[in-house]
Amino acid sequence: MIEGVKSERPQREDRNAILANCPVMPRILGKVVFGKIGNVETEKIILYYGFTPIADPEAVRLWQRTLCETLDLKGRILISKDGINGTLGGEMNAVKTYVRQTKQYPGFKKIDFKWAEGTGEDFPRLRIRVRDELVAFGAPGEIKVDEHGVIGGGVHLKPKQLHALVQERGDDVVFFDGRNAYEAAIGRFKDAVVPDVKTTREFVGEINSGKFDHLKDKAVVTYCTGGIRCEVLSSLMKSRGFNEVYQLDGGIVRYGTEYGDKGLWKGSLYVFDERINIEFSDETEIIGRCERCDAPTSRYSNCVNLDCRKLILLCPPCAKDAINRDCLPSHAGYGSG
Ligand SMILES: [Zn+2]
Ligand SMILES: [Zn+2]
Repeated sequence: MIEGVKSERPQREDRNAILANCPVMPRILGKVVFGKIGNVETEKIILYYGFTPIADPEAVRLWQRTLCETLDLKGRILISKDGINGTLGGEMNAVKTYVRQTKQYPGFKKIDFKWAEGTGEDFPRLRIRVRDELVAFGAPGEIKVDEHGVIGGGVHLKPKQLHALVQERGDDVVFFDGRNAYEAAIGRFKDAVVPDVKTTREFVGEINSGKFDHLKDKAVVTYCTGGIRCEVLSSLMKSRGFNEVYQLDGGIVRYGTEYGDKGLWKGSLYVFDERINIEFSDETEIIGRCERCDAPTSRYSNCVNLDCRKLILLCPPCAKDAINRDCLPSHAGYGSG
């Protein structure tokens, strides 16, 4: 625990007033960067996960909550007996302090914290929860972890190693999207196999169905947003007879940081916060299609039914018409995770 660190920064409204009147305000694409996006100069987001045995997840939750509240960080942390997964935003120095403190826990020492542009304002609040599974595949008993991470997972490939593999093996390499189908609808790797899943929970059924058995002797590269889902998915695939399974280290986030839109990735990246989707450059190809008129779009709207909130991919003109966001029977079964 740390004590005595108290944020001295001005209230949000004051800061916005200060920033709005500042002649050297950072600007992105002609838009003034403050308020919702925050001050990109001094605020950052981190994404991270670590698989390691945690004897007392509840104690770790209390420690993390105190730490985040003291540092005024916002975001979301999940903790299970198998590890921790978090996305946090706040002042850069506060985030650095968080990283230093979190690494004090022996099992978290080796965690790879990924830094991204953004602010605590991208997250409405701080949520820290203990769950049975870090990623909800519905197979909590199947995954085993030790101090090195998930036992029996796919081989980690850094972006450069991925390119070397594709160079060497060509069509023998198959990308396997480890995300939900709606995420892949707006962005995915070249010629990727996209399983028909609405939630991560449906992966086990999809893999067991046999429809991907023809990939069992291919070089399968699983990928997801930041890498965590592939830690579990690659292990589940290997134990079901996929012989050569790799996982993209650091996920699409790290790949995009290195290659932007000039590599094997195409389109926008769906993210689970208020940004909804991000692009790696201003040359991003729009590969999503409006569900109503087929126009290119990467923008999801929510179903107006508050109990449903299914994501509907709509172009800006179609999104303006509320009738296009009405609830339909086909929305049943969607989840946001
Ligand atoms: Zn449309
Ligand atoms: Zn609906």
